[in-house]
Amino acid sequence: MPSQVTVSRNARGQYHVSILVEDTIPELEPADRVVGLDAGITSLYTLSTGEKITNPRHERRDRARLAKAQRVLARKEKGSRNRAKARLKVAKIFGRIADRRRDHLHKLSTRLVRENQVIAIEDLSVRNMVKNRSLSRAISDAGWSEFRSMLEYKADWYGRRVVVIDRFYPSSKTCSVCGVLASTMPLTVREWACRCGTVHDRDVNAAKNILAVGLTVTACGDGVRPPRTGWCSWRSGSSPERTSRTERYGSARPVASNGVPVRALR
Ligand SMILES: [Zn+2]
Repeated sequence: MPSQVTVSRNARGQYHVSILVEDTIPELEPADRVVGLDAGITSLYTLSTGEKITNPRHERRDRARLAKAQRVLARKEKGSRNRAKARLKVAKIFGRIADRRRDHLHKLSTRLVRENQVIAIEDLSVRNMVKNRSLSRAISDAGWSEFRSMLEYKADWYGRRVVVIDRFYPSSKTCSVCGVLASTMPLTVREWACRCGTVHDRDVNAAKNILAVGLTVTACGDGVRPPRTGWCSWRSGSSPERTSRTERYGSARPVASNGVPVRALR
């Protein structure tokens, strides 16, 4: 029996009915796989397994339409009827992008939570404020926080763990094989060679590092508050108890300086 029904209307004039139902979700059998996730620029997400998750289908076309609709809106006279119409059109396209992306992220988060016992991700919450507010960036960032919350509540339902890595951890610059830290790693570098001989795909390497740190946290933490120093240090001010299966990790110290870019964008 539903205990609460909510009707809402969005900017596109669509009505939504939400029904709150109480249910008990049985936890899944423990999984033996673990995964790290890197939120990328060229790929939507990269997994530590090497798999690259791309944007939902039609996203590129929808974004081009959105940009066009916004240009049209900018030309309309303030307060006019045509401006209201143009504004509704922008809202419709924006909403369709968000709907498709949400659907995509729901499928992905369900799959990852089913397959893996531990999912390690990065905390990107502050990036929103520092980076420029381009529209595509805004959509990606909104998608990320939505995706993170999907992972967190689904992990909670099914008895999995989401470990959130501190945003200052240099996941892209650290060699996931030998642990050496590269001195610089501009965003245009997609592939690089470490002095240990390993050639890295930038995003896969980052995802592997995120996973490694996540697993360290899991091993150190596991229900007990870990010591405040070394690998197991928690970031002060954060509250790992906020959601039961989400933990945070403190920042790492640079080790050495090395790293040669192999292939750059364009
Ligand atoms: Zn190395």
